[in-house]
Amino acid sequence: MAAIGLRGIFLWVDPRYILQAREQAQGVKVMEAKGPLLEAVARWLARSGLRRAGFEESHLTYASFREFERRLSRSVRLKPAGGLVEELRYVKDQDEVECMRDAGRLTATVFDEVIRHVRPGVRESDLAADIEHRMKREGAEGAAFETMVASGPRSAMPHARPSPKLLRKSELVIFDLGAILRGYAADMTRTVFLGEPSRRIRRLYAAVREAQERASEAIRAGVRADEVDVSARSVLARKGLARYFTHSTGHGVGLEIHERPRLARGEKPRLEAGCVVTVEPGVYLEGFGGIRIEDS
Ligand code: ZN
Ligand code: ZN
Repeated sequence: MAAIGLRGIFLWVDPRYILQAREQAQGVKVMEAKGPLLEAVARWLARSGLRRAGFEESHLTYASFREFERRLSRSVRLKPAGGLVEELRYVKDQDEVECMRDAGRLTATVFDEVIRHVRPGVRESDLAADIEHRMKREGAEGAAFETMVASGPRSAMPHARPSPKLLRKSELVIFDLGAILRGYAADMTRTVFLGEPSRRIRRLYAAVREAQERASEAIRAGVRADEVDVSARSVLARKGLARYFTHSTGHGVGLEIHERPRLARGEKPRLEAGCVVTVEPGVYLEGFGGIRIEDS
């Protein structure tokens, strides 16, 4: 648990993490908690004489909140602080952007290596394992999320998990992958076809690519998040594919794989210089397959 305030930034960890915290949490006072973390924080708050403490309501479970209240002295009031931390993470500084660029480069390199092994007869789950193994060998801490490899009709599930299914000739295959490097995530999707694609598949692919390009071009400081979504969606709508695009156009990415802003319908926040977002339109046809292209 961490506390941020006028007195500094504090991080409570149990003895197992004390060395790691001192090494990794720079500019932070690391506090060792021998018992439950909530109890240590409650005791510190009581001693500090603070009257009010904000908490992250979307991260603290109800059970933990109740326990915190129980342990806290009556002089301290708990108040939901909204997305204070998320707010700080909305705009990335230059070092962060550099980290994410490196994470993106590493991810693209791994994909270029793995694509050489993509052929009929290979298992989805083996390709996913290969991708994650290579990420680590390239220096990543790991995968930012479970790597998706979905082939044939399974590619119509936007978040399919890799299965033991074998890739077959004349199938679409979606790869969604992203490495974590120095704490920052990358997120990229590529769709390939095994064999000679039909005219229908070429048309679908061209439509998704055009949607992805239009949305990417719409991204600039000051634009509203939902306007970017509309620019992707309207391309697909013009081609009669709107109903196959079943998710939002993109999302912020950073320390976590999904951050603010969301590029989706009705999202009013404006993009700022330093926001890092993905653009990932796709179409998914049940029983047939899916196509998605994503860059961040
Ligand atoms: Zn992705
Ligand atoms: Zn994504």
